[in-house]
Amino acid sequence: MENNKFLDIKGLNVSFYTQKGVVRAVRDLDLWINKGETLALVGESGCGKSVTASSIIRLIPSPPGKIESGEIFLDGQDILKLSEEEMQKIRGDKISMIFQDPMTSLNPVFKIGDQIAEIFITHYGLKKKEALERAVEMLDMVKIPSPEKRVKSYPHQLSGGMRQRVMIAMALASPHPGIMIADEPTTALDVTIQAQILDLMKELQEKIQMSLLLITHDMGVVAEMASRVAVMYAGRKVESADVYSIFEKPFHPYTVGLLNSMPSNEKYKHNARLEAIEGNVPNLLEIGDGCPFENRCKYAKDICRNKFPEIKDMGNNHHVWCHFAGELNF
Ligand code: SF4
Repeated sequence: MENNKFLDIKGLNVSFYTQKGVVRAVRDLDLWINKGETLALVGESGCGKSVTASSIIRLIPSPPGKIESGEIFLDGQDILKLSEEEMQKIRGDKISMIFQDPMTSLNPVFKIGDQIAEIFITHYGLKKKEALERAVEMLDMVKIPSPEKRVKSYPHQLSGGMRQRVMIAMALASPHPGIMIADEPTTALDVTIQAQILDLMKELQEKIQMSLLLITHDMGVVAEMASRVAVMYAGRKVESADVYSIFEKPFHPYTVGLLNSMPSNEKYKHNARLEAIEGNVPNLLEIGDGCPFENRCKYAKDICRNKFPEIKDMGNNHHVWCHFAGELNF
């Protein structure tokens, strides 16, 4: 198992030094993804998912951000030890990232064909004409209709779903696409387009055996895509397991809350209301050393306020950080 890890994060701590104080955005995070596997990183906004992603590609704005400690092994190499120049070679080669809004990554003043061709010119040393031919092939691969025409389009001339397909094409155009980090890739899309993009990602990922770190707050997307799940809350990992265990028998009250807030056919049939998780993610400036979910948890006791829980092994690689894991009846 150890040798199969493409990404292996150990003891990651990331802080932001703001005028109001130090925000500990990610705390003591361990996370790994095997080659060709999909790990879903789940939680509400402000839980540390995107900061984790930015740490992996080493794009934490510094200052105010700082990776305080930890190791991030990518294909066996600790990327936190690399120079910025070495890291630039890895971005867009072994690691690629797609975001909720592709417009943040696409350059609005260049045709999409030129933007994809640039990858072939830079990484493969191709001439412009050949690079554009490869760009057409990539658009065809991500199932964009009439790719010869679309290659001449500007980003604003494409729909949101098409733009996300272009981003996926760019990620796959890299010479060694090892891992794709997808940060809420379908949140801004219609449900039918969302399903098409997820299917496409799954199909291409299986084809080239790429690892996928899928960041989402949507448990429906998790069920569709992931083989393993890590649930984050207020900068901490609070539960991790394979996807079946998470849905069958979650142990952390926060995971249970996320699942209860998920729409389902059963709830629809019985006209049942979706259950929201009461309260909000705590202000990370004010958070203490206890369980961060304590102010929203109906099972909280005194110990929860004072001490962050030790890891509990529930068997079958299912881990939970709750003082009372296995003792609560949901
Ligand atoms: Fe709730 Fe306590 Fe468990 Fe935290 S440690 S989730 S507050 S019961």
